[in-house]
Amino acid sequence: MTSYRAIQKKVTSPLVNMGPIKLRQPLPTQGVENVDPFLLLHHYGPYAISEFNNPFDLGPHPHRGFEPITLLFKGEQLHRDSLGNEMVVKAGGVQWTTAGRGIIHSEAPTKEFVKKGGDLEGIQLWLNLPAKYKMMTPNYQHLEDAQIPKLFSDDKSIQLNIVAGHQQEIQGNITTQTPVNVFTGNALKSGSISIEIPEEHESLVYLLEGTIVVNDTDTLEKGKDQMVTFKKEGKNVKITAHANSVFLILSGAPIKEKVTQYGPYVMNTQTEILEAMRDYQQGKMGHLY
Ligand code: MN
Repeated sequence: MTSYRAIQKKVTSPLVNMGPIKLRQPLPTQGVENVDPFLLLHHYGPYAISEFNNPFDLGPHPHRGFEPITLLFKGEQLHRDSLGNEMVVKAGGVQWTTAGRGIIHSEAPTKEFVKKGGDLEGIQLWLNLPAKYKMMTPNYQHLEDAQIPKLFSDDKSIQLNIVAGHQQEIQGNITTQTPVNVFTGNALKSGSISIEIPEEHESLVYLLEGTIVVNDTDTLEKGKDQMVTFKKEGKNVKITAHANSVFLILSGAPIKEKVTQYGPYVMNTQTEILEAMRDYQQGKMGHLY
């Protein structure tokens, strides 16, 4: 007997303006403040990038107290940070930054990609760190598509990319600070897969492209409802694709601490936020030019 995870909320992925950038923000959204330990989910693009259209160009900025993660689905981006990393991430690749006590980074399509032109699409995810790890040494992990283990559905029509955590016996290559599963999926029409979610985890499914049915009952379709969050009852999430689709599955052990967020900092108290602002101004988070 399979018991499906009970669905808690089904929501759209509204377009929001982040400065000059227009992107989708399913989390936080009306009625869903976060899905602890996941604080924010941005879905950007696809943008048709060219020398005349390059909206997603994020200059140097700081972070403290959490992990900003980029999952790139289309295009090519250059990541630079105050630890000295300078890495190109391509479609299917992942950048996992542990901001810890402070990092400064920048992200933009590579010059070559802008010149050549093409689609850019990605997910930016903010994963919280518990109080005891907020001031840890910053770190950067980088995976190319080929370094991400794949799991196929029995009918071979859904490919699950195991970025972090594990599914069945397959283990992802990202080191996480708390128990977290980050999987992306590429589905062919009529493909079906059942995914096990650990009992103590909070969880969600987000649709980037196509149409899927979750647990035989709830449809997600691009431009309509695109995310479901789950209650903790039940063991499995079933996904059936009604079109060629791309989706994201997140689950994690909730941190259950007070979150105080201001701009690029996620701490537990207002005092810690003020300290972060001061430390950044004093150059204690490093430098990036
Ligand atoms: Mn950032």
